[in-house]
Amino acid sequence: MTKCIFCKIITGEIPSANVYRDEQVTAFRDINPAAPTHILILPNKHIDSVNVLIDDDEQLIGHLFTTAKNIAAQEGIAEGGYRLIMNTGAGAGQTIFHIHLHLLGGAPMKHPMG
Ligand code: 5GP
Ligand code: ZN
Repeated sequence: MTKCIFCKIITGEIPSANVYRDEQVTAFRDINPAAPTHILILPNKHIDSVNVLIDDDEQLIGHLFTTAKNIAAQEGIAEGGYRLIMNTGAGAGQTIFHIHLHLLGGAPMKHPMG
């Protein structure tokens, strides 16, 4: 099976600006940032999208969120506010089919989309 672009970033075959790594998740800066802070947090295990999540993935998905919280604090955007987005499916704007959480912050945002 061919590796997706994010699997190649996780294994280091494609370089990225790494922010955090542990045995379950990897975080790096988005190559085309939509906010002053724009970091992607993803499982090291390939999962296409939310549509194929299984019960066994629940701890892993929770870990994406606690990692996002820790990175927001580290980046100094926790108090100012930040947005966590997980696009699911092409119609929602998902372009890379390896599940990932966008952490966006560092500037005021409009609601609902900014
Ligand atoms: P999606 O549209 O699937 O929710 O988000 C994919 C994100 O990945 C986009 O914000 C895009 O800028 C980012 N991206 C695409 N290719 C690369 C890459 O090679 N390196 C990094 N760091 N980000 C990428
Ligand atoms: Zn992948």
